[in-house]
Amino acid sequence: MLEIKNLHAKVENKFILNGINLNIKPGEIHAIMGKNGSGKSTLSNIITGKDGYEITQGDIKYKNESITEWNPEKRSLHGIFMSFQYPVVMPGVNNTYFLKAALNAKRKYNGQKELDAARFLKIIKEKLQDLKMDSSYLQRAVNDGFSGGEKKRNEILQMLTLEPSLSILDETDSGLDIDALKIISDGVNRYKSPDRSFLIITHYQRLLEYIEPDIVHVLIDGEIVKSGDKKLALKLEEKGYGWLEK
Ligand code: ADP
Ligand code: MG
Repeated sequence: MLEIKNLHAKVENKFILNGINLNIKPGEIHAIMGKNGSGKSTLSNIITGKDGYEITQGDIKYKNESITEWNPEKRSLHGIFMSFQYPVVMPGVNNTYFLKAALNAKRKYNGQKELDAARFLKIIKEKLQDLKMDSSYLQRAVNDGFSGGEKKRNEILQMLTLEPSLSILDETDSGLDIDALKIISDGVNRYKSPDRSFLIITHYQRLLEYIEPDIVHVLIDGEIVKSGDKKLALKLEEKGYGWLEK
């Protein structure tokens, strides 16, 4: 699904990623843990194609194609999705309209028939129920006045609507109370399938109790210094990152 080879990248002349290697197979859930400033969001941004980063070495392949020259729209249309650490507020843009336009753009690109308002509402209402979100969220502007937890749920609503193959969740758990954490984890677990993959970025082992990762990686100074199974997350919770630093 995703193959990153020897990725080096800089932003404003500062190297942030220093040789990342990562191979996520279809159906796998990988977690990345690391201190603030280790480069986790930078890696997510580079996979999704955000402007402002320069890849100086290495390659990113998605479904066996190099995507480093693709713009973010193309990556999204091909099934890459990211839930932002800091979801963007879009005053004046109606949430239903936004979700429907995004979904229909993707359907159109992939040669499927666009959904009319009635069909779309039927589908979206089921997804809202899964996330225990009130339908009033649909009438509001995207994330406008949403609490931290509501914004994160809205990100997951976008994921469930767009049905990506590769979902990157950048600290989706931060700021969530335990009930919201469970609802979001249930949403992810229901969405999980043998042809969908996840890259889950988190500080806390707690999320990984609900969403079980196949592999856990530790990122320090833009390098994956250790990978292991979910026991590694427990060890990090207990011992911190110091024992892995150079
Ligand atoms: P994490 O998500 O692991 O907390 P980030 O990827 O957000 O870390 O940031 C990694 C490092 O890159 C930090 O030191 C941050 O200040 C720096 N950085 C990220 N974006 C920029 C930018 N646009 N300009 C300068 N430095 C940046
Ligand atoms: Mg971050």
